[in-house]
Amino acid sequence: MDQPIAAETAPEFATRGRITPFIDGAFLPPGDAIILPVLYPATEEQVSAVEEADAAMVDRAVKAARTAFEHGPWPRMQVAERQAAMRKVAALIRTHARELAWLECRNSGIPFAHLMRLGIPRAAQNFEFFAEFIGQSAGQVYTQDNRYLTLVTREPVGVAALIGPWNSPLALTSMKIAGCIAFGNCCVVKPAEQTPLAVARLMELIQEAGIPPGVVNLVNGRGHITGDAMVRHPGVDLVSFTGGTATGKTIMSTAGAGLKPCSLELGGKSANIIFASANFERALDGALLGIFSNNGQQCLAGSRILVERRIADDFIAAFTARAARIKVGDPMDPMTEIGPLAFRAHLERVLSYVGIAEAEGATLLTGGARAPGFTRGHYMQPTAVLAPSNQTRVCQEEVFGPFATFVIFDGFDEAIAMANESRFGLVSYVWSDDVGIALKATRAIRSGVVWVNTPMVRELRAPFGGVKESGLGREGGHSSMQFYTAEKTTTIPVEAVGMARMGMG
Ligand code: NAD
Repeated sequence: MDQPIAAETAPEFATRGRITPFIDGAFLPPGDAIILPVLYPATEEQVSAVEEADAAMVDRAVKAARTAFEHGPWPRMQVAERQAAMRKVAALIRTHARELAWLECRNSGIPFAHLMRLGIPRAAQNFEFFAEFIGQSAGQVYTQDNRYLTLVTREPVGVAALIGPWNSPLALTSMKIAGCIAFGNCCVVKPAEQTPLAVARLMELIQEAGIPPGVVNLVNGRGHITGDAMVRHPGVDLVSFTGGTATGKTIMSTAGAGLKPCSLELGGKSANIIFASANFERALDGALLGIFSNNGQQCLAGSRILVERRIADDFIAAFTARAARIKVGDPMDPMTEIGPLAFRAHLERVLSYVGIAEAEGATLLTGGARAPGFTRGHYMQPTAVLAPSNQTRVCQEEVFGPFATFVIFDGFDEAIAMANESRFGLVSYVWSDDVGIALKATRAIRSGVVWVNTPMVRELRAPFGGVKESGLGREGGHSSMQFYTAEKTTTIPVEAVGMARMGMG
């Protein structure tokens, strides 16, 4: 490995100077691959680099996973042994939480305090949850035809390609790894090329926990090179992807050629409906968290805030005043509420929506520019606009930054029509203390998840995923089991059953 690059802000940790593929339980020595820099969004300085895996390197990683699957101990182990190893991974994540949060911050710009509170514990919970889940799962037995016993058992599918996004790298990628390996599969993982650091460190913790070599392998690189080679590889049996909708469509069509099942967690433009019957202060807190937490880069952001006209002026004024006071700053500062966006091109894209909004007649309520006071880093002011209609681009396109769009509605029916007037359908939020309105809304909204009177809550036992262009398939207890296992039906006669006898002349 190259010389590590020392840390400025937390000298007890260091990033790997160069991240090579992790195959068969070890990082490979540096090779002559294309090198992609990894930058700290707060200063734009280089903090590490990845070796981009080409098709030949992906082939090597898939073969390692295949060998571990066909011949290794992992798929054949007692469930209790797999549970113990996964719990050990969770314990190691907790032991190394500060380091993982620091690494994640170094390439994503997500505030360290937020990662310590949510992102890193979630990674540990993913392993704990699936360890618990496999201890409780069972097959089926059919006895209606009493001459036979028909058993339905579940088996691991094989080798999975797991492709993760940059907005919450460890929490989301570890969900895929934990769900995949819990059922006895092996995998090749690719984090986003901008955010490889914490996932690379996780490989070592997985190794330390005693998960056999080859069960989890890591490659890095850009999507059209490394990711595409993974999806195409004939040794890959299934693909789990979290990222943008356009990428999801490309992946699905490539995977379709090989008839590989895909789980796709894609984009969103989620409606956050604030009825006049809502608890004003709670809805306000929830709306701010819904759009501005995780630097505004969340698939499940409540980015389209629909407010009932009766309370709209007061609500928008209160929201705007609070948004303007949000502390944008150094992601290592515990007081920081919004850190820098993940990379320069992304900041520029998010900022471009200010002009798009104004050109369509929207009113800029607050923000709308780079945050003042920074000479380096991708800092942006928390921004909110009031759109003249739900048909505008800022209501229909995912901005994926600290950018809230308000629209005002009159009455229940208009709220639901607006919420559903979207090509996305990932999540939605409903704020109302009128149980009837809240329940009616949850039925009428077309999205994979509805949260009532609460910001995001992730219940790992329950399915998570979207409808329409927000994705295909679900992640979570039973849903992950369905994706990562294949059902096998075995039928056995209870006693010798009469058979037609052929060839008896
Ligand atoms: P993206 O789709 O460009 O990249 C995501 C990952 O896919 C990266 O690892 C990338 O290298 C890889 N990739 C890109 N092209 C590929 C290809 N042709 N083949 C294989 N892999 C490829 O990500 P983005 O659009 O910049 O990410 C943000 C998006 O992710 C947003 O739309 C957001 O809503 C979505 N997201 C969804 C969820 C969810 O659970 N639904 C969670 C987080 C993020």
